[in-house]
Amino acid sequence: MKFLSRSADSSIDQPAWRLIVLSAAIVIGLHHGAVNAGDVVVELVANGVATQGRCVAYSETVGWLESQLGVYQRVDLAYVEGMRRLDGEYAPASRQVHQSHLRDEFGRDGEVRTIGHYVVHGPKGRVKAYADLLDEVYRSTWTYFSRRGFRLKQPEHQLDVVVFTSQADFLEYANSSTSKPVSLNLQGFYDRASNRIYVYDEVAQEEGLTPQARSNLIHEAVHQFCFNTGLLHRLADLPVWLVEGLALTLEHDGNRTGQGAREDRVAVDRLTALQQYRSQNPKFGLAEFLVADKHLFDKSVLDAYAVAWGATFYLMETRSADLTKYLRLLQERDPLLAYTPGERLSDLQSCFGRDLRTLEIHWGRFSDDLQGR
Ligand SMILES: [Zn+2]
Repeated sequence: MKFLSRSADSSIDQPAWRLIVLSAAIVIGLHHGAVNAGDVVVELVANGVATQGRCVAYSETVGWLESQLGVYQRVDLAYVEGMRRLDGEYAPASRQVHQSHLRDEFGRDGEVRTIGHYVVHGPKGRVKAYADLLDEVYRSTWTYFSRRGFRLKQPEHQLDVVVFTSQADFLEYANSSTSKPVSLNLQGFYDRASNRIYVYDEVAQEEGLTPQARSNLIHEAVHQFCFNTGLLHRLADLPVWLVEGLALTLEHDGNRTGQGAREDRVAVDRLTALQQYRSQNPKFGLAEFLVADKHLFDKSVLDAYAVAWGATFYLMETRSADLTKYLRLLQERDPLLAYTPGERLSDLQSCFGRDLRTLEIHWGRFSDDLQGR
């Protein structure tokens, strides 16, 4: 299994893919070595459906093609009945193309505004407030990670953001785009496949965004940032505690800008929930949660969010070099491989020390101190 990036060579070793590439080479008259997977645009036909794009990752059974809009499309290789190379090299769609796609899909009554890396569609007269905030969050989040030694890359694609007029419209769309019903409490989401953010508008008394709408947007913007600047891979099996923990922590302006004392940068409601959870579950094991967090996220999502926030805030405040190392390990993983509890444990131990019980004790003291302030 191999991850293909723009600079990937052509040492292709998987049987299904080799078969496809060989047939493609025959069809389009190319020598094997001439195929640069990063720039080549192909069309795969599976079950009568044609999918076009460049290959971003593949296994023996699945290929992922990226459209020019940055949408990831899954193709089941067992059902591929045809492939051809399309003319020209892969090029991300222009800002204008993103704008017109959003208008076509979400209505011409709305307004589309562009700023920095963003293309934002929303209710007329309301989009500027969202666009300005997105641009500010992008710059402060960039500074935050750069200060901690991360080498980030600028997003290759325009970043699409859709602001629905109401929560009802938002929920209707969210329900129509997924196979299982979404929670009525859903306030926004970043969709890894389409690379888009979806939120809904809430007007504050003074015309701006309500505090809730503001923090919803920032939360999803941090997710989108992480998946577009090389920090996290959109296809990867990632620890949910870390993905959510980064967004929950960086929701706070002071954490992104590095301003204010530690106690002023605490998410007070998350800390209260965390301390309540710890007091009710004296045998709670942080190490077990970091290795396998799905159980708590499924059983009690607010408790899981509180622990995810608490763990990430602690690591950022006291172990940021080790957290940086852990994120780098995640970046190096094959995005199509499952991340097993055993691998998670050994990666955590290599970054935070073999004895994760010690980490938990220090974390407990840190959390108690925060609450005591
Ligand atoms: Zn989230």
